[in-house]
Amino acid sequence: MQFSTACVVAFASLFSGAAAAKSYEGHSVLRINPSTQEAVDIIKNELPTAMRVDWWREPSYPGNYIDAMVGGSDIETAKNMLAAAGLDFEVFIEDVQKQIDSTHTLNSREHFTASNDVAFDYSKYHTLDEISDWMKTLPDSYPDLVELVDVGTSFEGRTITAVKFTGKSNSFARLGRNSTDAGAASSKPGLWLDGGIHAREWISPAVNVYLLGHLLEGYGSDAEITELLDAVEFTILPVFNVDGYAYTTAEDGDRMWRKTRSTYSSKLCVGVDPNRNWDWHWGEAGTSKNPCADDYQGPNAFSEIEVKSVAAYIKAQENLNGYVNFHSYSQLWMSPWGYTSDLPPTADYDAQQQVSKDATEALSKVHGTKFDYGPISSTIYPASGSSADWTYGECGILYSYGVELRDTGKNGFLLPEDQILDSGAETLEAVKVLARAVADSKKADFVRIMEDGDCDDADLCVFNDAGDSECCTSGEFCIQGVGCRC
Ligand SMILES: [Zn+2]
Repeated sequence: MQFSTACVVAFASLFSGAAAAKSYEGHSVLRINPSTQEAVDIIKNELPTAMRVDWWREPSYPGNYIDAMVGGSDIETAKNMLAAAGLDFEVFIEDVQKQIDSTHTLNSREHFTASNDVAFDYSKYHTLDEISDWMKTLPDSYPDLVELVDVGTSFEGRTITAVKFTGKSNSFARLGRNSTDAGAASSKPGLWLDGGIHAREWISPAVNVYLLGHLLEGYGSDAEITELLDAVEFTILPVFNVDGYAYTTAEDGDRMWRKTRSTYSSKLCVGVDPNRNWDWHWGEAGTSKNPCADDYQGPNAFSEIEVKSVAAYIKAQENLNGYVNFHSYSQLWMSPWGYTSDLPPTADYDAQQQVSKDATEALSKVHGTKFDYGPISSTIYPASGSSADWTYGECGILYSYGVELRDTGKNGFLLPEDQILDSGAETLEAVKVLARAVADSKKADFVRIMEDGDCDDADLCVFNDAGDSECCTSGEFCIQGVGCRC
């Protein structure tokens, strides 16, 4: 989710030396339903000039609901302004702090560690340390399947750890992409999933942890999961924005923190929006140049070491053809583009939409949860410099998505723990659909490339935008109708 607001928090913390968590006492979330573009513009432009607004769901299009958190006397002021303008609204979450207190129980219970007897519980939210300690146990639990990947180091010095895993056999052996070792794991098509790019969206790391655990547990016992792990190489990064997540979960932190924790852009306002910082049409629509805003794009593309590190790692994985960047909330399965309302080439767009449709249908069958789907820019709002645009545009990863998990605003970012298992189970079904598409897409690519073959052994023949054939150099591959990509 995106929002923009004055950053009072960082300024205050310079002087307070506070040890208590930031309080949201006296804060409410207003749900506003604009039916016209004029109403959207009034809310977007005039509300933040009168008060501090934290957009839980920012203004976008007529018919798209807006969620705005405001505090103290601003609540009455906002209500009066909205009523005077004849706008439809309601108080959606009356008491944000009460909701935080009931869902943020992390620091009042014993945590899983590498050495104690506490079981790792998928139905709970976890600290970064718990998740890291749990991931470290996976190579021992699944020695033939799992490899821990050190993706990089955060601004505050934390390790960004992903888990790469795949089945022992290779049922979808792929011969393309200059591979000389068709049986090796790296010759399988790859699917990358990540969570926690925005710190306060806790359900996102929790679902990634669920997916990781259940895919591994299912190998060898669940026929479908076994088949998918034999066909696809998975990489899951449960917590992308490690500094932000550590801060939002800390006893003296801020539950509503979204950004990174870097401080080189501004002395007063901390952090950059890591999902506006990718080097693909960076700094265009739906992003802010204000370091104090929560959708701050950063001083330059890839200014954030976390984003730069993950991007470098992804770019080096030639087998990736699926990518999901998990967020909350809104229940949306979204494809490129975010930076423009233009659509990708038809063949790509149709393939992306088909998987979105199939994935959300499979998801819905589990608990009846409804997800909408479509391009990012028209489904939620324009957003440039996002990860899914970059993985598709720069790396040619066809099945690139940004997904907004539960819910649709009843709890917003403060989703109760009793929804984690259901959210994980339904998302797993969608991921299975995606994994199957990723596996099949590679076979199709290979057949098409060989049929088009005009090049020598080291090169692959494809068609570029003009419909002509060209030879991709080593390390590149083709997207039909687009051309050679990294
Ligand atoms: Zn988000």
